[in-house]
Amino acid sequence: MSADIHVAAMTPVFPGSVDAAGQRATLGVMGGGQLGRMFVHAAQRLGYFTAVLEPDAQSPAGRVSHHHIQTDYNDPAGLAQLAHLCHAITTEFENVPAQALQTLALTRPVAPSAAVVGIAQNRIEEKAHFTACADISGVTCAPYAVIETLAQLQAIQDDRADLLPGILKTARMGYDGKGQVRVKTAVELAAAWAELGGSACVLEKMLPLTAECSVLVARGWDGQVVSFVPQRNVHVDGILAVTHAYEGNMPPALADRARDAAVSIAHHIGYVGVLCVEFFVVEDGSEHGGLIVNEMAPRPHNSGHYTLDACDVSQFDLQVHAMAGLPLPQPRQHSPAIMLNLLGDVWFDVNGQPHEPDWHTVLSLPGTHLHLYGKLQARVGRKMGHLTITGPDVASVKTVARRAAGLLGLPGLDTI
Ligand code: ATP
Ligand code: MG
Repeated sequence: MSADIHVAAMTPVFPGSVDAAGQRATLGVMGGGQLGRMFVHAAQRLGYFTAVLEPDAQSPAGRVSHHHIQTDYNDPAGLAQLAHLCHAITTEFENVPAQALQTLALTRPVAPSAAVVGIAQNRIEEKAHFTACADISGVTCAPYAVIETLAQLQAIQDDRADLLPGILKTARMGYDGKGQVRVKTAVELAAAWAELGGSACVLEKMLPLTAECSVLVARGWDGQVVSFVPQRNVHVDGILAVTHAYEGNMPPALADRARDAAVSIAHHIGYVGVLCVEFFVVEDGSEHGGLIVNEMAPRPHNSGHYTLDACDVSQFDLQVHAMAGLPLPQPRQHSPAIMLNLLGDVWFDVNGQPHEPDWHTVLSLPGTHLHLYGKLQARVGRKMGHLTITGPDVASVKTVARRAAGLLGLPGLDTI
């Protein structure tokens, strides 16, 4: 259990309250991306003031927040200002400098803590954590080896041929499949490690996935935990394309195991905030296949965006509740849902020419909920928004999702 969690020290920050200095209850977030924007929306709906620390002047979150502190994430004056303005602080991206969170935690409640964010920032530490709680979580990671030195690379060539074919992943700063190289042979592995600059990496065995899923858990300062049912995810080119969130999306026994495992993983490090745990499902001869834990994100997650429209409480509502020390309501999903990610590709036609998507037709379909993140420039591969489809039953949700995906030319259509 991480030592820097002050379980009893958190006095709830009630929405709309005014502190002894006359300052309105204000929640802060490190980072100004779309996750920060949706956090700000949720916090403001509850009645909080918000502050965003983000260097980019045009960031999705900065532009909708009461306060935008436009400095680098490490800037001492920016951090001091954020701490001064806010009664509790969270993060919207895992690569926030852990040192910055530590600095903020000297004077303000910070959730999740620098220590747990530090674990999620480093695949080597993350896998060590998963391995340490494998007995209670009941899941292990894919077979892997750490490569930080030439000697370790050599050792794999000599003794760990079982890890090939595999995926070489940088220990730090990977996201959306970046910082990853697929390798079949020892020669390819050596070249890939050189290509990644000889930085600290893990080599993971390539597994025959039958599915992928993720679980969102929220844990409070007092250890209370609530969770969403697992959602099934489809990735295309390493980027999430489609999330299936409805009963029957996965075998129930597997879904239960994934949920229990995610809760154990959160408890084991005394996590406070919203945590997303990603899993692989592999064929292992058993009736429903085996569950492997892939990675965790110390924040709300792209695969949980459907909760905004399909649940009575969203992942962002829970992020607000958890950091502010409010009770955590167990979320209830009221509609089956499919989420389609909208990458910048949607704003270009087949000839690569910029064009406006046919929103009129898409939005005339029943149960479509469009979320655009306010990014001013569409680029191929850039997450610009998402479209969630809800409906009275799974069949109608799938029909609309297929139609919308077809109209927008989205990948993953064949998986709906
Ligand atoms: P993100 O942070 O956006 O979820 P990431 O860049 O951290 O992604 P991973 O989640 O490790 O990367 O991998 C991205 C995708 O690549 C996975 O969702 C999965 O589809 C595939 N993948 C990764 N590792 C393996 C593996 N060991 N075997 C098979 N497929 C894998
Ligand atoms: Mg991932």
